Amino acid sequence: MRTVMYIGNHLSASKGYAAMGRAAAALGANTFAFFTRNPRGGKAKELIPEDAAELMALLEREGFGTLVAHAPYTMNLCAAKEDVRRFSLDMIADDLVRMEHTPGQYYNFHPGSHVGQGTKEGVALIADALNRVLTEEQHTTVLLETMAGKGSEVGGRFEELREILDRVRLGEKLGVCFDTCHVWDAGYDIAGDLDGVLEEFDRVIGLDRLKAVHFNDSMNPCGSHKDRHACIGEGCIGLEAMRRVAVHPLLAGRPFILETPNDDAGYRREIALVREWTE
Ligand code: FE
Ligand code: FE
Ligand code: ZN
Repeated sequence: MRTVMYIGNHLSASKGYAAMGRAAAALGANTFAFFTRNPRGGKAKELIPEDAAELMALLEREGFGTLVAHAPYTMNLCAAKEDVRRFSLDMIADDLVRMEHTPGQYYNFHPGSHVGQGTKEGVALIADALNRVLTEEQHTTVLLETMAGKGSEVGGRFEELREILDRVRLGEKLGVCFDTCHVWDAGYDIAGDLDGVLEEFDRVIGLDRLKAVHFNDSMNPCGSHKDRHACIGEGCIGLEAMRRVAVHPLLAGRPFILETPNDDAGYRREIALVREWTE
């Protein structure tokens, strides 16, 4: 039996949850990502339980894969300032409560920027925050995103994510989201040696932890630490290398999320392209 390819893009929750499901299906997607609130932070729009339930029914009916919600960019669990850490902790705690209305999905976040405190302290603060918010009862798997290593970002090296995982008590509630643009920018050559990178991921973190893929080309060369996404095949990773990621048997079955600079027509095109590769 062939594994189903789950592919979709980033949508806005501003029109409601069920509306996102319909929009995704209309683009030919069978998964999608969405911000739990304004990506720049702030108060979340009130969640209507019936709307969330309607989305859940749609996911089931249309055979969607797991969704990948995204935390706001302003969340920084390892900020130097205590009030920013507190605000971030409140935000993730609140988001995880909201996520219970769509049980069984993923919630992805950027581990954070240590802003001069050092990676070690950053890792400790992130793990400490996770130990405060994760609960035995939650139905959401929280994903640490692999980062480009821009500025003082934590998570540019697989080892840093491993250390966070090791320090969290409810480790079974955690996974990793593999962002192709970010790992490439961080210095992992997925174009020249995809097997080698996946082997390294497996050795350091374990491929069973790799729950989702952010599928983006990069505007910059490997190791640039820039984090600027490009459309599939229009960046430095290139079309053929992106295709090899999409069809790699070790990544099969995971939700692939496009975070490419596109309008709806562009997303529809990229979703169709990936489906063509894998069907
Ligand atoms: Fe992200
Ligand atoms: Fe990403
Ligand atoms: Zn990015």
